[in-house]
Amino acid sequence: MRIGHRPERDKRITTHVGLVARAFGASEMLLTGRDAHIEESLADAARRWGGSFTLHSGVSWKGEVMRWKEAGGAVVHLTMYGTNLPDVIDEISHCERDLLVAVGAEKVPAEMYQLADWNVAVGNQPHSEVAALAVFLDRLFLGRELEEDFAGGLKIVPSARSKKVLYPEHPNDSNYPGGKGSEEIGP
Ligand code: SAM
Repeated sequence: MRIGHRPERDKRITTHVGLVARAFGASEMLLTGRDAHIEESLADAARRWGGSFTLHSGVSWKGEVMRWKEAGGAVVHLTMYGTNLPDVIDEISHCERDLLVAVGAEKVPAEMYQLADWNVAVGNQPHSEVAALAVFLDRLFLGRELEEDFAGGLKIVPSARSKKVLYPEHPNDSNYPGGKGSEEIGP
């Protein structure tokens, strides 16, 4: 959940919060406020690159936190002021509850610190919500998220020296770049 998105200045970073959440194993994103640009960017990523990641925008952060906890889930709030990640990740990993991970933009309401089950710092130095989310999810999923298969989208064939992309859903569609099933770019 992204709290406090400011449409006039946070478009790119909030989009990156969503892209990181999707790529690093989250199943959905909640956004306080609405922003058509973000909705379109994330929908486009999901359309092109597959998987089932969804965005729900215009939510109330407190309403979502209360609902989540009432349904038995736990809330992790990422903040530089929290308990340092190495000291708490085992407890979180073993809690056996669905997790809602919250990141802020500017100032997060003080109530969030009280409602969260854990306030977690990814190191007690200021940096970025994008970095904090990526490191947290990577530690939570122990790196397994990097091998996740996103069904139904373009597939990158990992390569040391070239770009190779497969278009599994459109193997012969000339509207897709490299519409013979793949595109190879490079030396
Ligand atoms: N004062 C803020 C805080 O509480 O972490 C830093 C503001 S920063 C511009 C925006 C967001 O990045 C924060 O709300 C928090 O979610 C995340 N963030 C920044 N540094 C972090 C850190 N060291 N550990 C965890 N989250 C961090």
